[in-house]
Amino acid sequence: MSAPLNAPVTTPMVRGACPRLSAPMQTGDGLLARLVPAGPMAIDAFAALCAAARRHDNGVMEISARDSLQVRGLDPISAPLFATEVEALDLDICGSVPVISSPLPDDPSASIDVHGLAAELREAIAASQLILAPKLSVIVDGGGHLHLDALMADIRLRAVSTADGPRLLVSVAGDANSATPLGIVVLDEATHLVMRLISVIAAHSTDARASHIDIDAFRSVAAERLAPPIESNPRAPAETIGLRRLKDGACAIGVALEFGQAHANDLMALAGIAAVNGATWVATAPDRTLLLGPIDEMTGFVLATAADNLGFVVDARDARRRVVACPGAPSCASGLIAARALAAEIAAALPASQDGIAVHVSGCTKGCAHPTAAPLTIVGTDQGCGIIHEGTAHARPELHVEAGDLVAEIDKLREPVNA
Ligand code: SF4
Repeated sequence: MSAPLNAPVTTPMVRGACPRLSAPMQTGDGLLARLVPAGPMAIDAFAALCAAARRHDNGVMEISARDSLQVRGLDPISAPLFATEVEALDLDICGSVPVISSPLPDDPSASIDVHGLAAELREAIAASQLILAPKLSVIVDGGGHLHLDALMADIRLRAVSTADGPRLLVSVAGDANSATPLGIVVLDEATHLVMRLISVIAAHSTDARASHIDIDAFRSVAAERLAPPIESNPRAPAETIGLRRLKDGACAIGVALEFGQAHANDLMALAGIAAVNGATWVATAPDRTLLLGPIDEMTGFVLATAADNLGFVVDARDARRRVVACPGAPSCASGLIAARALAAEIAAALPASQDGIAVHVSGCTKGCAHPTAAPLTIVGTDQGCGIIHEGTAHARPELHVEAGDLVAEIDKLREPVNA
């Protein structure tokens, strides 16, 4: 276990910090606790975690876009009890700095053991005792199909093939497109190099992020260990939903939680069916998904049917994948509209497609669920649902619609989106 979990609950937490198990965050429906799994969990432990969530909170669980697991509805009495039960499960959980690695174990398309390297990095960061910004993060991308290009990180390592074997492309501050590449490092030196980069951030201030630092400061501590960066081609978006091959010929199945949220009962039911059919692990994955394995291909169809019946998204073309929504009202105290309820109604009016996000429903202008622009953004305001085309939740709405009229208006509203 990476960090003591059963410390007294200290709320409210600092704004901008992460709502960890030992310091859950106040929301509209109680305290919210977040844990970042360090890799796949034993399926029994995952089921036990869901059972604890059902016992101690309102049973609503979430997987975030960055693959964190969240439980809602805790209170000052139940939160420490829940934390204690989770600690007893001895899950491998990221410490104060999430080191997020590619989610699929035994991925034949990956060229390095990401979980081993990520574990080494976590240990080195914990041992350094550096005081770092709460949201600072590191990504270790194995170079496989389920890549992490869409996730932002302060430091990102991506496995790349070279004539001398696999190496790591090191970049700072951004997602795969926006981060600044520093160079290529051999695997054995990656941890040492990342710690040098993190030390540069820590020396700047305790709340510094890589984006605050002059790139030359990183280059000056890293240059001697780096070869020049190689061109890394843009990759097709990673898609977790569906059957994925593992190294030994077995498979894993990926399913998404509807708008990132599911009831603990449904997660336990899915884990139970998977376990009966031979699965031994569950992994949270980016884009609000879960992977379960190892299974054979036929079992994949059985599990997909069961997951579909339980309300999970099992088809990458499902219209629910085209709508992203935060909890909104009443779950979030800042929410001015019931974002997820509206999202479900909107998705029902959208055609199935794999064209990406068409609509972002945001409970308020903060835009937590989708910080970037969407073809159509619906934002909660004091005047009802603000409508924004090709903008973020911060943008000035072009018009306002009553929440009750929104779905009737949706065909007109999404016309320019060509959805
Ligand atoms: S966007 Fe607003 S309503 Fe939605 S989760 Fe963030 S703060 Fe809450």
